[in-house]
Amino acid sequence: MNRMTRAAGALLLAAPFALRAQTALTPTETKIRETLQKSHDEQIAYLERVVNIPSSTLNLAGVRKVGAVFKASLDSLGFESKWVSLPEATQRAGHLVAEHRGRAGAVRILLIGHVDTVVEPDGPNWVRTDSIAKGVGGNDMKGGDVIILYALKALQAAGTLKDMNITIVFTGDEEHPGLPLSVTRKDLIDAAKRNDIALAYEGGNRSDATTARRGASAWRVTTTGRQAHSAGVFGGAGYGAIYELARIVNEFRVQLAGEQYLTFNVGTILGGTDVEYDTVGIKGTTASKLNIIPKSAVAHGDLRFISEEQKEKTRAKMREIVAKHLPGTDAKINFTDEYPAMSPTAGNARLLALYDTASTALGYGPVRALDPGARGAGDISFVAPLIDGIDGLGALGTGSHAPEERVNLNALQMQTERTALLLERLSRQTSASFARKPASE
Ligand SMILES: [Zn+2]
Repeated sequence: MNRMTRAAGALLLAAPFALRAQTALTPTETKIRETLQKSHDEQIAYLERVVNIPSSTLNLAGVRKVGAVFKASLDSLGFESKWVSLPEATQRAGHLVAEHRGRAGAVRILLIGHVDTVVEPDGPNWVRTDSIAKGVGGNDMKGGDVIILYALKALQAAGTLKDMNITIVFTGDEEHPGLPLSVTRKDLIDAAKRNDIALAYEGGNRSDATTARRGASAWRVTTTGRQAHSAGVFGGAGYGAIYELARIVNEFRVQLAGEQYLTFNVGTILGGTDVEYDTVGIKGTTASKLNIIPKSAVAHGDLRFISEEQKEKTRAKMREIVAKHLPGTDAKINFTDEYPAMSPTAGNARLLALYDTASTALGYGPVRALDPGARGAGDISFVAPLIDGIDGLGALGTGSHAPEERVNLNALQMQTERTALLLERLSRQTSASFARKPASE
C-alpha cells in the first residue's frame, strides 16, 4: 500500500484481527474447552466430596479439612500453598494461601474463594437429581472453589498455566469473619498488595457479574437527658433523652434519605431511665415510669455506601445533626467500619469486558454489570480499595445460606470454561497494564 493510505489500511487490518481475537477460540482455547468437557464428571465428583465435609465457619476442624483437600490439589498443580492459622483469640480456622509464579512481568492475578459455609449439615448431605445437586456450600462457595481448581487444571493440560502468576486465597471465615478484621483479613489484603487484579467466586449468574458493591458499617447514637418529673418536660427540665434521639433519627431521614446507593437503617432503639444495651448481641432492656423524663436512649443501625467519599460525607452530616441538641440533652454518635465499598472503577469495567468477550466467544452470551445495590458484602470488598476486580464468577444455584442450597451442575461447566478462558487471555497481558490509575485521572 502507498504512504497515503497506510494509516487507513492499518485500521482496516486491525479491525478484523481484533474482532477475530474477540469472537473466535484459538486452538489452545479449544483444547482448554475440550479438557473441561472431559473433566466435567470428575469436577462434579470433587464438588460432592468437599460438600460432604461439613465446614460451617465455627467448625474449625471441618474448615481446615476442606482447606486440606484443596491444598493437596493445588500443590499437585505446582502451587506453593500453606494453611495460614489465625490467632486463637479470633476463634477462626485460618485461610488457604497458594502461590504460582510464571512469567515475570505478566499480570498477577488474585483468585478469591472461601471454604466455610453458613449452615452446618449433619454430615454428608449431597443429593443429586439430574443436573441439580442439593448440598450445603455447593453454590456458596465450594462450587466457586471447584470452578477455580478445574479451570487451572485445564490450563495446565493446555501447557499455559506454567506462565501464569496466580495467588489463591480461600478464606475460612468469609461467612462470619473473625475479629478484628485487621487480623483476620490481613493475609487477603497482603495478597492483594502483591497482585494486580482480583477475581472472586461468590455465586454467579448467567448474564451478569459484580463490578461494584456497597460497603457496610454501623453507627450508634446515645443520648442523655435530665431525669425529672414529666410535668417539667419542654421547660426547665429539658426535653429528655428520647425526644433528642427521635429528633436525630428523624433528621437523618429528612436530610439524607434518597441518595443513590446510600442507606442507613435504624436497626433498634431503646430508651428510658434504666437502659442496658449489649452492642454485640444487639439486644437490651429498659425500664421507666410514664411520669419521668427519660435520662438515656440508644439507637443502633447500619450505613451502606458505594465509596469511601460517600461514607465520610454522610458521617460528617450525621455528626452535624447529632450536635444540635435539644435543651437539656446531650448526644454522641460513633461509627464502626465493617466492609469497605467496592467502588465502580474503569479497571473493574475493563475486566468485565474481558469476561464478557470470553463468554461470548464460548457461545454463552453477553455478561453485564450487576446493580451494585443487589449484592451484599464479600471478601473482595477488602481488596477493592487496592486493586481492580470482579466478583460473582462462581457457581449458579439457589438457597445459599440455607439447608436447601442447590447448585446447577450444567452451569458449572459454563462458569469453569468462562474462567479458564478469562485467565488464559488475561495472562498474556502485562502487569503494568493493570496498574490502577490514581483516582484523580
Ligand atoms: Zn460466599
